[in-house]
Amino acid sequence: MTDDQKLTDLLTFDREHLWHPYSCALTPTASYLVESASGIRLQLRRPGGEIISVVDAMSSWWSAIHGYAVPSLDEAARDQLGRMSHVMFGGLTHEPAVALGRKLIELAPRLDGQDESPLQHVFLADSGSVSVEVAMKMAWQFHVNSGRPRPKMFTIRGGYHGDTFAAMSVCDPVGGMHSLFTGVLPEQIFAQRPPAGIDVAADDPAMVAWEQETRALYAAHAAEVAAVVVEPVLQGAGGMYIYSPYAVQVLASLAREHGALLIFDEIATGFGRTGTLWAAQRCAVVPDILTVGKALTGGYLTLAATLCTREVAQGVSSGQSGGLMHGPTFMGNPLACSVALASLELLERNDFRAQTARIESELGTGLEPALDLDCVKGVRTLGAVGVIQLTGPVDVAAIGAAAIERGVWVRPFRDLVYTMPPYVSTTEDIGAITTAMVESVDEVHGGLTTD
Ligand SMILES: *Cc1c(COP(=O)(O)O)cnc(C)c1O
Repeated sequence: MTDDQKLTDLLTFDREHLWHPYSCALTPTASYLVESASGIRLQLRRPGGEIISVVDAMSSWWSAIHGYAVPSLDEAARDQLGRMSHVMFGGLTHEPAVALGRKLIELAPRLDGQDESPLQHVFLADSGSVSVEVAMKMAWQFHVNSGRPRPKMFTIRGGYHGDTFAAMSVCDPVGGMHSLFTGVLPEQIFAQRPPAGIDVAADDPAMVAWEQETRALYAAHAAEVAAVVVEPVLQGAGGMYIYSPYAVQVLASLAREHGALLIFDEIATGFGRTGTLWAAQRCAVVPDILTVGKALTGGYLTLAATLCTREVAQGVSSGQSGGLMHGPTFMGNPLACSVALASLELLERNDFRAQTARIESELGTGLEPALDLDCVKGVRTLGAVGVIQLTGPVDVAAIGAAAIERGVWVRPFRDLVYTMPPYVSTTEDIGAITTAMVESVDEVHGGLTTD
């Protein structure tokens, strides 16, 4: 077989037999074949056998914060492979899990003046969705054990928390297509989205109205609410929506006033993505339960974690259940834990704050020309996140192809063309990404309105 025949063979089998995320088996969209990846570039094989190199503006769904083939992460994986790639976590433990647990607790959010984080217990889960399931299960068990079961979760519209059923139930009801699963999905309580913008103040009329409405809704359900679940400050896959720390504080205060637990889902926002290590820091709130994932292993392997306070751990463990009722086969996978530890060490060494601050300003400058386009509704940035929102749905395949022609990989959704680049992206890389985004939107969706 020639390289070209092999490419056709792989892509044909892929199209006919493999599910991709949210894909349709009848009319699958085309996939590009990745040969390898290094630095922040993916090597794609194209028809005719040609290999092209593109900048990964997505960090493989926000996880590859250090890029690919990172020497210290490769070495951590190789080292661990020589010892063991996996052993069960029931009745056994190992240094990679202990070291990672220690590191996560050391890095976990805390308030000014606290010498350690209140989050002192770690559940090592095998994916983000599972860590959210575990967080919700903790909250439910906590209240069951206290003798007053509370069946519901309280959240805001527009969120995304994963694709398993409990996680899906707190995703946006429309974006998460709850209508497909009526009768199967637990029904939760949804407040409106807070007003858009990181700087919206408490006394802004839109915020005042939102707060009043949200407090009233909560009060009507207070006795049933086990936990408030929220992505602080940035809703990711639910719409790349940025809102203010004050709104997070309102939600936190509702939970605290009514004896519910507070769950922060920082799977997308954690590990520096919004410019601070945690989005929680921007809000000066430490949740009772925290979920992390995505960038945890620097994009190498699937791993997530659910952290909780001593109080939650005690509540979950005392009472009729006698423990937390969850235990995946690949819990605490040593290979993933080793790479995660190396990734967190690299994150600290690389000064992600300086990296993301620089990227934020470059994204702002680079995306601004999009505002001149008729088809563009708005542009927003926060940390290493840059978003162009169109006035209507994006032609995902056409934008993807147009950006590849410009040497960049982007994967838009709904009305959003966005980037979450690796933190190691240079000024030039960010320039290439923003130029490709703006030009592709212009080429596919419409002309410049001003010179
Ligand atoms: C991606 C994501 C999840 C789900 O994580 P998976 O690893 O895909 O299961 C949950 N919450 C948030 C905020 C996410 O961004």
